[in-house]
Parts: sequence; C-alpha cells; structure tokens
Amino acid sequence: MKSLVVNCGSSSVKYALFDMEGEKKIAWGLIECIGLKEGFYSRQTDKTPKIKDALEIKNHTQALELIINDLLDKKTGSISDVKEIAVIGHRIVHGGNVFSEPVISDENSKEGLRKCFDIAPLHNPSNYEGVLAAEKMLPGVPSVFVFDTAFHQTMPDYAYMYALPYQYYEKHHIRRYGFHGTSHKYVSQRAAEMLKKSAKEIKIITAHLGNGSSLTAVKNGKVIDTSLGFTPLPGIVMGSRSGDFDPAIIPFLMGIYPELKEPNALSDMLNKKSGLLGIADSSDMRGIIEAKSKGDKKSELAFKMLCYSVKKYIGAYFAALNGIDALIFTAGIGENSAPVREEICKGLEALGIEIDLAQNQRSGDERFISSANSKVKIMVIPTNEELMIAREAVKTLSNKK
Ligand code: ADP
Repeated sequence: MKSLVVNCGSSSVKYALFDMEGEKKIAWGLIECIGLKEGFYSRQTDKTPKIKDALEIKNHTQALELIINDLLDKKTGSISDVKEIAVIGHRIVHGGNVFSEPVISDENSKEGLRKCFDIAPLHNPSNYEGVLAAEKMLPGVPSVFVFDTAFHQTMPDYAYMYALPYQYYEKHHIRRYGFHGTSHKYVSQRAAEMLKKSAKEIKIITAHLGNGSSLTAVKNGKVIDTSLGFTPLPGIVMGSRSGDFDPAIIPFLMGIYPELKEPNALSDMLNKKSGLLGIADSSDMRGIIEAKSKGDKKSELAFKMLCYSVKKYIGAYFAALNGIDALIFTAGIGENSAPVREEICKGLEALGIEIDLAQNQRSGDERFISSANSKVKIMVIPTNEELMIAREAVKTLSNKK
C-alpha cells in the first residue's frame, strides 16, 4: 500500500511517497516559487539521483500535475497507475478547536477547515488549495488532513487558556494551540519504543529545536502542555521568532515607531527579525556557534539565551509532570548540535538529568546520550514528520472502513 504525503505552502509543494510495507520512502521532492516567472522543481527516488529544473509553475494544480506525471514516468517513476496510491496525507498547519485528530476529506471536514482560515491565514488557505489540487489530479484517491495542532488538543483548560478577558476565548477562540504536533507525536512514540515501554506509562519532555522550536510535556502518551501558543511565536528563543517576552513592550514600541502600528510590520518584526537573528544577525545555529568560537559576543549571548530559555521550560514541565522518564532532543538543532544539548543539560543534575559528554559528541541516528547515573534518559531522535503523516493517513482510512 502506498501513501502520498503532501505539504502545500503558499508558494511551494513538498511531497513524499511511501511504500507502507516496510515504511520506505520511495520518491520525494519539492516545488518552489509557484506563481513566479522562475520556479524550481527538485525530485529524487530511492533508485534515481536528485534532479533540479528551473521552470514556471503557475499554481498548485500544475505543481501536483508535474509530480503525478513524474511518479508515473515509465522509466524513472515509482508507480505504474495512480490507483496504487491508497491515500494522500495532507499536512495542515492549524486545526483550531475544530479538529483534535486526523480526518478524511469530505464536504464536512472541508467546511471545518475553511472555518480555520482566520486563525492561520498564512498557512491554512494554501494547505486547502493543495487538497483541492490533489483531488482534481487524483480523483477517487481519499485525502486525509493531518493537523500540526491535533496532538496538543489533550491539554487541560488551565494550560491552554490565556488570562485575557474570557470573551476573547468565547468569541475568537483565543487560546494556546501549539504546533509541531506531528513531530512531537513521532518522537514520543519512538522514545517509548526505545525505552521498551508503553507510551501510556511514561512521562517525557520533547524538545523540537529547529528554526521554529517548541517543547512539549507528554504524560502517558498525551500532551499536557506545549510552549507554542495561539501562533508559533511564544515559548523559547527561535531562529527569527522572539519567543516569550513582555507583551506590554508592543504598545510601548508602537508609541515610538509609528510604522509598527501596521499589523504586518509588527508581525514581521516579531516573527522574522527577532530571535537569534535579532540578537546576533544570524538565524542559523551553525553560524552562531562559529561566530561565538571566534569571540563574537552577540553570538555568544544569542546561544546562551536560546539554551537558557529551553532549560527554563524543562524545569517548568518537569514540575508540571511531577518528574520525567526521558528528555528527547529532535529537529535541526536538537539532532545535530552537541554544544546546544550540553549547555541545556548543564546544571540540571538536581532534576536527575545528567548528560554523557562523550556520547553527546557522537553523531548518528537515534541514540541515548545520558550518563549511566542519570535518572532521566536523555535521547536524540531524528524527527520524521512525513512518515508520521503517511501513517496517520493510512490509520485514519482503515479506521473508517
Ligand atoms: P525548520 O524549522 O526550518 O524545519 P530545521 O529543523 O531544519 O528547521 O533546523 C534548522 C536549524 O538547525 C538551523 O538553526 C541550523 O543551523 C540548525 N542545524 C542544522 N545542522 C546543525 C549542526 N550540525 N549544528 C548546529 N546546528 C545545526
């Protein structure tokens, strides 16, 4: 059985085709700059090397058409008939409080998705466009919506509510939703398998540290708190997003810089010009670490700020969970940066979190990096959101049958 994963952004389509026997990724690629004069299409399969072409791609339907034609290519394709694709899993950023689990695309769920446009205007409409394009190109193949927010829907109200006037929650659904749910779910399931325990009997903190980052407290397989919120802005220091800060700074700055009264300019400042970039002129952790090693003070400050913000969330979630069995690092920084993991874990011995410095330096796949004495297991688990979406799509389809 084959499962096609589609992730449509406003001007891009990322895809991956899995053969679910053995969960093997057999074809994948990315189309960028849709709607511009020069777009790019890169793709490869488990049998053929990467090819990248520059070409004009007018819209998402044309992008899907290119992808399907390539999948069907007689020489290099991975399928001989579209009927081999049993299901399409679509990554959908925001399910609001309408969706708490993946759903099959039908008129009802599409209406529900349209209701979530307001809440994620930058992402959900493009995700939806991808659904329509896929349905046009692959008629009869069922689509499943897999939401970035769904795994977090188990949070209790006292964790997801903001202490703002209650009417904003009632009228506009202003609350914490959380993101990266597919990644947190994948690594928490893998952690349970690696610990040889059921997810239902462990308490863990998952740290997804990439350009966008979030920490999640998972108790017995269910999320009880997460660091991103109504939008992916709060929580720990990120590549170019501020993370937590005093919100009263906003009206204060608006009084000084009239241009910040314009919502897009304000949003740009908070999402695209802050975080590591705002402090040290680079949103890339590798660049920050290199500059820090050459004595750049702002890079050192940015590095310490990010690690300290993660450490504080670990403390908070350790308390919320009343102790943990494991701390998981994942995503670009979490998987690859030994100095970041070391700085975060340094000084957490009081919580039973002790890193093994030699193990931490090792690179590789899934691994334990805690010392023999550490009460808490520290683990590095490469995330695999695409595979998780492929699995969720298959599971949702078979539950319906
Ligand atoms: P996104 O949120 O865009 O998916 P990623 O998960 O790919 O981001 O993470 C990107 C971040 O990971 C960047 O800050 C990058 O510098 C960092 N990163 C990737 N490899 C390394 C490495 N070897 N050492 C330190 N940071 C790394």
